[in-house]
Amino acid sequence: MARRSACSFCGSTTNTLVTGPGGIAICDECVEQCRKILGGLTPHQGSTGSSGSDLGTIPTPKELYDYMNQYVVGQQDAKRVLSVAVYNHYKRVKYYQEHPDSEIEMDKSNILIVGPTGTGKTLLARTLAKRLSVPFAIADATTLTEAGYVGEDVENILLKLIQAADDDVSKAEHGIIFIDEIDKIAKKGENVSITRDVSGEGVQQALLKIIEGTVASVPPQGGRKHPNQEMLRIDTSNILFICGGAFVGLDKLIEKRLSTSSMGFGADVVHNTEKNLSELYASMLPDDLIKFGLIPEFIGRLPVHVGLNNLTREDLKRIITEPKNSIIRQYEQSMEIDGVKLDFLPEAVEAVADTAFRQQTGARGIRSIVETVMLDIMFDVPSRKEAARVVVDAPCILEGKRPAMYDAAGNLLSA
Ligand code: ADP
Repeated sequence: MARRSACSFCGSTTNTLVTGPGGIAICDECVEQCRKILGGLTPHQGSTGSSGSDLGTIPTPKELYDYMNQYVVGQQDAKRVLSVAVYNHYKRVKYYQEHPDSEIEMDKSNILIVGPTGTGKTLLARTLAKRLSVPFAIADATTLTEAGYVGEDVENILLKLIQAADDDVSKAEHGIIFIDEIDKIAKKGENVSITRDVSGEGVQQALLKIIEGTVASVPPQGGRKHPNQEMLRIDTSNILFICGGAFVGLDKLIEKRLSTSSMGFGADVVHNTEKNLSELYASMLPDDLIKFGLIPEFIGRLPVHVGLNNLTREDLKRIITEPKNSIIRQYEQSMEIDGVKLDFLPEAVEAVADTAFRQQTGARGIRSIVETVMLDIMFDVPSRKEAARVVVDAPCILEGKRPAMYDAAGNLLSA
């Protein structure tokens, strides 16, 4: 409602006024002033300031650590470093949401996770995003190329995050992006200069800006950018980038450096085969990564380093049964819906762990081993109304024997 009288705040009689009950009025200039005082709030921007979504209470490092423990087996060192780094990141984001004019500059700390394949790099990142209820996207560095060459533009990574945020750009602006296989975009050696290294150093260069923080333009339908196309604009300065890679051979590089630097001082050179990789990676220096082919500017944008260990046979056994959403629990639940109790015997768990351990792909093999053995039974159970219990033993895993099916009275049902 606008009419001519005086603003109750500044006394202006010339500005546009909104009147309220009891004859008070406020002018458009004072409304703008109030908005500034309240931290730049607009009607669509929630309660935390300039960004559109509320981060709520940030879980403490201990809470993040405990949550990861429910889903991720082992990797305790990594969980500690990650919980602190992720807490600090979101604390910083929230601080700037609440203090947009703050003069203290806290830098963003993106994370590099180094560890053998199938040991939980993606799982850790995903679990953290779940606990924080922030959008999460996974990108594969090997599909990326420098803009203008065959392959995906790096901006498409951001599109994935926007899609994970149900197209809410402001929500995506404080999501987490996991870039897998980052070791595969290492430089291709010192001497390859005749052709441009568009999928190695070129991609690292292209990623620099978005990882550090920039306002990027993303084509809403993905694919290549075209001139005159409408773009989504997204600020990446609060997006947490977690890069992961196996970096095969990096452990040897670090070991070599450590052993040469300590030689002559009577220090022990570590030669054990069951080495603690997370401890070794804790002494990783930027130089080691440069030797591996990452460019210094790129390394500089990933200041937090996390090392994962190889999973032991014991870890694999625990992964099969312990996590809240372990594969056995998933099958138990699925069969329970059909009214059938699944007994996955401890000897079968041992057999799965043994087989997965031999495959040397971390926990990767577990799912396909279990799925293969469960396939026939999952096919039969829904049509066998008398089935009440299924037992999986070691020969099912090791020799391909069919799991046994019983009725409620304990009689063996034929296949
Ligand atoms: P990568 O290290 O190659 O990213 P992933 O995190 O994708 O490995 O793990 C591959 C599979 O193994 C996933 O199904 C994941 O749930 C399981 N897994 C790997 N490591 C662990 C772990 N430490 N605890 C529980 N599950 C794990």
